[in-house]
Amino acid sequence: MRPEFQAPRGTQDILPERSLLFNRIAHVAENHFRRAAFGRIETPAFEHTELFVRSVGPGTDIVEKEMFTFKDPGERSLTLRPEGTAGVCRAYLEHGMSHRPQPVKLWYLGPYFRRERPQAGRYRQFNQIGAEVIGAASPRVDAEVITLLDRILKKLRVPGVDLRISSLGSREARTAYRARLQQHLRSRMSELPPEIQRRIPTNPLRAFDSYHPQAREVLGDAPKLLDAISSDDAEHFDAVCSLLAEASVEFRIDPTLVRGLDYYTRTVFEFTSDHLGAQSAIAGGGRYDDLISMLGGPSTPAIGWAAGVERIGLALGNKAYPARLNAFVVAPDDLSEVAVRVVSQLRDASISADFDLLGRSENAQLKHALRAGAQWAVLVLSPEAAELRNLRSGERWSTELPELPEQLKWARRHPRRTPTEVDS
Ligand code: AMP
Repeated sequence: MRPEFQAPRGTQDILPERSLLFNRIAHVAENHFRRAAFGRIETPAFEHTELFVRSVGPGTDIVEKEMFTFKDPGERSLTLRPEGTAGVCRAYLEHGMSHRPQPVKLWYLGPYFRRERPQAGRYRQFNQIGAEVIGAASPRVDAEVITLLDRILKKLRVPGVDLRISSLGSREARTAYRARLQQHLRSRMSELPPEIQRRIPTNPLRAFDSYHPQAREVLGDAPKLLDAISSDDAEHFDAVCSLLAEASVEFRIDPTLVRGLDYYTRTVFEFTSDHLGAQSAIAGGGRYDDLISMLGGPSTPAIGWAAGVERIGLALGNKAYPARLNAFVVAPDDLSEVAVRVVSQLRDASISADFDLLGRSENAQLKHALRAGAQWAVLVLSPEAAELRNLRSGERWSTELPELPEQLKWARRHPRRTPTEVDS
């Protein structure tokens, strides 16, 4: 029978066996950020709606149709965050982070919300790992953040990764280019689907994201933004490309890469994986040198990216990991109090341990130990002694209880690798 309640459309439960994969992704990312001197920031899951309208841009998919917006009791409009950069920039300004040593290097991990049509790899609540470096214009920063993401994906062994990069130039170059693109699109209007036609006045660059075959043909003939950027912007882009090569990051230049949001300037990039279906983007980002000033702050260059945790999980085959337990303590009914003591003793010594909570027979406890994936059973023989039994090899020996943690630690030196223990 179908239960009365199900998770809302586009949301999902992460059950324990899958959360181990998520932990591993987070763990690898965190290690890389720590080594690169990034500090973690977490901003609220909702912000004032105007923050996203102003930064993401009124003509974008996100603002036009994907935000979960609601009113608070004081009738102020709030929105569940659809992306992370706007909130981080708001926090940078609100906490006067421009007075800290620059640039400020931040990373984050948490849930984001978009009212999209759900499909494999596309959810209404999903998790992103993100990085933002605020306060430096050098191409070295662009290369640093892209390299960091490249190395995280490599360490996780995400298969079939392809990195495309381009430059959107400055806002001025883009405004001039927009007019030329609009002219081109209008001259071939009848070949374009209504979705693109409608966007010509507000966001013509988004046409490049279309999979519509005729539209692709029209866009193939269109002038390219990369050819229209200023010489300063082109120099910046060339420097980013050579620094990436220096860092052994493989990439392709893709002049049709525009990215959906309004706030990008200069470098933009996207990582995809051919192990995902239609939703092939794993991560993306770019430079947003105008955003902080658009939010009322001083002109401050910045760059960042966000990676989808669920998409990385999917590309890795959504591998479910069995739960892993060092020891399961088995005790007859009359020694159940000793089991409580032994379990605490083991946990205090950083050994994962569990025991029966349902009053099972000793035999049933042993079976449960196997099902729980325990490596060792500790059979309590008396208030002073136990038998240690390796549940894989069958090897067993007796020990005094005070010796138990040391004995198990010795035995643990040959562990099977698990996602939580992988060095990174
Ligand atoms: P974006 O800001 O749209 O480039 O998103 C950055 C990354 O977040 C994407 O490359 C995806 O990996 C992930 N992502 C974006 N939207 C969704 C979604 N609706 N469901 C799952 N992951 C998403």
